Amino acid sequence: MLKELIDKYYLDRQKDKAQTSFYVSEAGKCPRTVFFKFKNAPRKEMEANILRLFDHGDHMHQLIMKPLLSIRDVHVVCSEIEIPPQQLVRGRADAIISDGKQLYVLDIKSMNSMIFKNLTQPKPENISQLQLYLHYFKIPKGILLYVDKDKLELKEFLVNYNKIQAETILKQLTVLKNRIDSNIIPSRLPDYPDNWQCNYCQFREICDLGEPDEMDWKNFKARIQGVNSSET
Ligand code: SF4
Repeated sequence: MLKELIDKYYLDRQKDKAQTSFYVSEAGKCPRTVFFKFKNAPRKEMEANILRLFDHGDHMHQLIMKPLLSIRDVHVVCSEIEIPPQQLVRGRADAIISDGKQLYVLDIKSMNSMIFKNLTQPKPENISQLQLYLHYFKIPKGILLYVDKDKLELKEFLVNYNKIQAETILKQLTVLKNRIDSNIIPSRLPDYPDNWQCNYCQFREICDLGEPDEMDWKNFKARIQGVNSSET
């Protein structure tokens, strides 16, 4: 009884909604996936345990913030801070901290032991996300702090603001927004289906049905009518 009720709680929270602006976490993600999210295309529903894992990630953040809020050498200037409002992208950094000399944007990522063990440098998609925070907060340094969810070990990486990289990401998002507004589905990732994103993609089924290159959304939408990926 409880399992079903708890699962339902999580499943009800992921009711599909068409997206209207980019999330910072989508920087560097497959443009076709993001396009499909904006169009609320048929997707494979996430299972309740995966949704619980996201919640678990939030608890990891609290676990990290607790000592940071107590120790003297670091001052938490603010936590859970939204980037300044603008039309293109929205997002919330975990914290802005200070060591008494300068400010840092802190972004906390949790992962399983296997991935954590092999992590020798920050993940490119996490750097892209952090670059946007640094850009919007006008802070020159950030810290990516990785937490091993299973063993609670930590690894941290200092990331410097890279203006060219941040502006390139924003340019790519602007191009993608134009594609979305003009109903042109972006190409598949060049290394589809081997890219790691394809393994976890909620739109994999409809992507498989399409062409590798750009497609017209209205025609494609008519072709995929009846696909209900949540049942796959
Ligand atoms: S299956 Fe791969 S290429 Fe296709 S939308 Fe998903 S991530 Fe992109």
